[in-house]
Amino acid sequence: MTRASSVKRKFNKIVTERQEKYSTTTLTLDLNKCQGCNLCSTVCPRYAIERGPIGASLRQRSKSPPIRINYHKCVFCGLCAYICPFDALKLKVNDQPTEKLKRGKILPFLKGEEVICERTGNKALKFIEGEIKIHDDLCPSGCSTCIDICPTQCLVLPKATKEKPWEKTAKIECDRDNCLYCGACVYACPAAGAIELQRIKIHHEKEGSESTIWKNVKNKLEQKVESRYWFFEKRLKTAPGGAPTFRKEEDQIQG
Ligand code: SF4
Ligand code: SF4
Repeated sequence: MTRASSVKRKFNKIVTERQEKYSTTTLTLDLNKCQGCNLCSTVCPRYAIERGPIGASLRQRSKSPPIRINYHKCVFCGLCAYICPFDALKLKVNDQPTEKLKRGKILPFLKGEEVICERTGNKALKFIEGEIKIHDDLCPSGCSTCIDICPTQCLVLPKATKEKPWEKTAKIECDRDNCLYCGACVYACPAAGAIELQRIKIHHEKEGSESTIWKNVKNKLEQKVESRYWFFEKRLKTAPGGAPTFRKEEDQIQG
């Protein structure tokens, strides 16, 4: 079967495309919506998504997008579009919206509350519960990258009061009711170990939740993530032997 894959930039969208004899499949990333949270790359079975530079979602018109989809590896299964809480990815076949992995059959419908992200004004689905810890001892003061990147603006610099002077306040506070547990702050934080996030519950319907694909997705999402020193990691990748990898075997999803 003849296939040709390519990637194109169209204004604020990046279109990854595969052409076959009778169909054209596209996976479109909307740079106005993507928060660089890395959920898509966490669940991608082909490890076809890499994250871009820190803070790229704040500079949407820059040449460096928050994520990069490797069209040589992508099998257009649509798992990334399924999991994105910000609806930033769309899978289409012959220009029609499609779901290769049918919700209610292979994947469950995700259940959650629709929230408006204060920073972007865009909608997001809050379907994950979890825990987030900010380690004061590892957080360098005066950085505020996590506050800038958080789409719901649930991270704040606490104000010192008479009763609680600044020496006694935390460096960053999180309003957990508004946290999406998306991980955008974790992946933007430049201080190793300063933010720790554990997703505990993914809200979803029952139908479709028995599949192996869903169980793998859930396992990946529920692994603890913590901030790492990104530049160091990047250097390790180019070092002989590459960066240490904690990835599991690839899942068996065929294109
Ligand atoms: S899951 Fe959505 S918002 Fe998060 S990095 Fe992927 S495309 Fe961007
Ligand atoms: S995990 Fe929570 S605190 Fe961090 S960026 Fe997402 S919504 Fe904001």
